Amino acid sequence: MPPAAHIWKRAILLVDMNAFFASIEQADRPEWQGRPVGITNGMQGTCIITCSYEARAYGIYTGMRVKAAREICPDFIQAPSRPHRYAEVSRCIMSTLADITPDMEVFSVDEAFLDVTRCQRLWGSPEVIARQVKRRVHAVSGVCCSVGLSGDKTTAKYAAKLNKPDGMTVILPAESTRVLANVPVTELCGINTGVGRFLAERGVYVCGDMAKLPVSVLGKRFGNIGRRIWLMCQGLDPEPVLLDVPPPKSIGHGKVMPPNTRDPGVMRLYLRHMAEKVAARLRRYQMQAQNFYLGLGGEQGWLAGRYRSRLPTDDGREINRLCEQFLNQHWRGQGIHQVQVRALDPRDTVTVTDLFDQPPDQRRRLNQAADKINNRYGEFTLAPARLMHRSSMPNVIAPAWKPFGHRETILGQGTVPSGTVPYGNNR
Ligand SMILES: [Mg+2]
Repeated sequence: MPPAAHIWKRAILLVDMNAFFASIEQADRPEWQGRPVGITNGMQGTCIITCSYEARAYGIYTGMRVKAAREICPDFIQAPSRPHRYAEVSRCIMSTLADITPDMEVFSVDEAFLDVTRCQRLWGSPEVIARQVKRRVHAVSGVCCSVGLSGDKTTAKYAAKLNKPDGMTVILPAESTRVLANVPVTELCGINTGVGRFLAERGVYVCGDMAKLPVSVLGKRFGNIGRRIWLMCQGLDPEPVLLDVPPPKSIGHGKVMPPNTRDPGVMRLYLRHMAEKVAARLRRYQMQAQNFYLGLGGEQGWLAGRYRSRLPTDDGREINRLCEQFLNQHWRGQGIHQVQVRALDPRDTVTVTDLFDQPPDQRRRLNQAADKINNRYGEFTLAPARLMHRSSMPNVIAPAWKPFGHRETILGQGTVPSGTVPYGNNR
């Protein structure tokens, strides 16, 4: 037990598995350890989904073609993906972490936050617990992880990425403000370039600049999230580790149109826009859905229907196909002023059979590339051509708002709108 003086007032760990899928393949096939391994969609896959650190050392990266990888590295080992195995290892790791503390938030298939404040008397100082976490994760899975430790979630997450692979970085809570002071604000998880631009226009580039800006400026523009950002930049993120978050029951987007819209072209545009937003949100949380609620709101009430895609999807074009079908079947020229697109049964992609089979490889790569750019430069920087230049949407935070963006758009318990409609975060 640490002396009372060494007990942290608040201690948060972020555990991030290194090159997760590739590490699992290496753990399961010891002859692959220390070798350049890349995961593809079956043996026919032409494109690398993720790769081991040994492969990265050669300059191989996610999205690279296998052929190009072989050119720079003749020893490159192509491993067909085994999504069920990855999900199994993830569950095993998460349950091991839950043995250390129940105060845990599964953040993604290969990341979790642990609030170890309450278990210091049981397990020892936060540093001791962090080392224990690394040992246990490796023992149950053969996978290495990087751990960030600090007094709040944002600083812990920032710390974890400073040392990869197999790293451990401690930023003492009392040091957080000083350590973050020279870090560009957009380096922090949850601050996208939209917010970054807003801050830059006010002279805030690095976290240390934030103290000069009154919190009310952010509060006025972004509400509670803005006030959180203000604190985050000063190493004082108040966000608790969220326990037992149930999987989202639905992921939806809606938008108000000009009153009495009757132009089918305009309606198609809005539906397409919402379809892309829902798809991007699904991808962000590594989810897919097969059932969609589609709705058009007018003076007379809602035209709505449930539509089912052929396979679970996270592809905007696929969802938009259902929207087209819906429009053709239900709309008879009446005036409309709202559209609504919602995925009703989002599920973890990793548990879906044939994870990397659909949408087709090329489509998936395109979506991934677009997501990457949009996360960096703001929503709809890259979008289908017909949506360009018409995305003055008010949701500046989403979807690049990482930790908890999806929770804000999740409407309670699978409610399907009728009459009055909750409008995601577009309000
Ligand atoms: Mg990782």
